[in-house]
Amino acid sequence: MKEDIRRRERCRLCDSPKLELAVPMKPSPIADAYVPASRLGVPQALYPLDLYLCQSCGHVQNLDVVNPEIMFRDYLFTTGSSTSLLEHFRKYATDVISRLEIKPGSLVVEIGSNDGSLLKFFKVQGMRVLGIDPARDIARRATESGVETLPEFFNSKLAAQIRKDYGQASVFCANNVFAHADDLVDIVRGIHDILADDGVFVFEASYLVDIVDNFLFDTIYHEHVSYHSIAPLAKLFERLGMQLIDIQHNASKGGSIRGFAQRTRGRYPVQPVVGELMAMEKARGFNKLPLYQDYSRRIDQRKAALNDFLDGEIVRGKVIAGYGASTTTTTLMWNFELAHKLAFVADDNLKKHGLYCPACHVPVLPSDELYARRPDYVVILAWQYAAAILKKHDRFIKEGGRFVLPLPELKVLQ
Ligand SMILES: [Zn+2]
Repeated sequence: MKEDIRRRERCRLCDSPKLELAVPMKPSPIADAYVPASRLGVPQALYPLDLYLCQSCGHVQNLDVVNPEIMFRDYLFTTGSSTSLLEHFRKYATDVISRLEIKPGSLVVEIGSNDGSLLKFFKVQGMRVLGIDPARDIARRATESGVETLPEFFNSKLAAQIRKDYGQASVFCANNVFAHADDLVDIVRGIHDILADDGVFVFEASYLVDIVDNFLFDTIYHEHVSYHSIAPLAKLFERLGMQLIDIQHNASKGGSIRGFAQRTRGRYPVQPVVGELMAMEKARGFNKLPLYQDYSRRIDQRKAALNDFLDGEIVRGKVIAGYGASTTTTTLMWNFELAHKLAFVADDNLKKHGLYCPACHVPVLPSDELYARRPDYVVILAWQYAAAILKKHDRFIKEGGRFVLPLPELKVLQ
C-alpha cells in the first residue's frame, strides 16, 4: 500500500529546490470526498494544499501530492453527461483538424480521455483514435462504445509501447491532465517520443493569470497540482526537445489556455502570441512572490467580508444555505470557514443528495429544499455558474429569498 500523500522537495517542471510559499491554504479534505451519513463519525483526512512558487522557472504548484490512486481510480464523472462539454469537444476536434490540416487515417491519442467524448469527434472525421485513462470502469465502457482506451496512467514507458503497437501520433491531446499530473516531465518525455516529426501536442489547462485575475482560488484543490503560466511551460518544453507554437486564450472554466507544441524544428511556425503572453506575465510579476502575497490578501478580504455579513445576519436569526456541491465549493466552504453557518447545501446532482460536504459535513439536498425550507439567504458557492442558478431560481427571489455572491466581490442580490 502506497502512502496517501508525499511531499515534493523540488519543482515539478525544472527540478529546482528553490521553492517559496506563495498562497497559503488551510489543510483541506479531498475536494470530491463527499461523505455518506454512515461515515460522519469517522474523522476525515486533511492534507496540505499550499501553493508554492518556483524561484527558478516561475511555476506555481502544490508540493503535497495525494496518491492519484486515491483520487482517480474510482473517478465517476463522465464527460458525455455534460452537453456543453460535448459541444466544446466537437468544436475542439474540428478546429484542430482544420487548423493543423490533419489527414484522415492519422493517429490521434488522448490522455485523460474519459468516456472518449473528444476522440469520437476525431473518429467520425476519419482519424484512428486511442484513449488512455486510469479510471478502469470508464476506460472499459469507452472501449465498448468504440473508442479503444487503455486503463493506465500515461508515462514514457507506456509511450514507447504505444509507439510500437500503434505508430506515431499526428495529434496528442491532454485536457486538464496537465494540471493533474505530478510527473509532468516524464509525461512530456513520453509525448515527445510518441509524436510524429510533424505531429502536434494540444493541451488545455486553467491559466494562472485568470486564476489570479478572476479569483478562481477555489480551483485550488489536490487534484490540481499545477497552476500553469506560459513562461515555465515554454522552458520545460524547450528542455525536453519541444517548443510551444501557439496559445489560444479562452473563457472556458473561468479562463483557460489551449496550448500547441511540437518537436523542436517541427513544421509549424511559432506564433507571436507565445512571446506576447510571456512578456505580459513577466511585466506583471507572475514569476515573483509579491503578486501572490497580494492575491492572498485579497482572498482574505473577501473571506472576511462574507463572514462579517453572514455573522450579522445569523445574529438576527436568519437562516443561511449554500448552493453548489462540487470540488470548487469544497475549497471555498472549507477555506472560508462556512461549515457552521450553512444549514444545508442545495445541488441538482442526484448523486450528491444525502451526502455531506467534505470535512464541513453540511448536508447536500435537492434544490427543491430552497422552497420547502425557505432559508433567508443562499450563498452561491458555485459562483461561476451564478447566472444559470439565478435564472433557474428566480422564483426563490420573487418569494422573498436572497442570493449572496461570495466572489469576485461580495454581493447580496435582492
Ligand atoms: Zn521550476
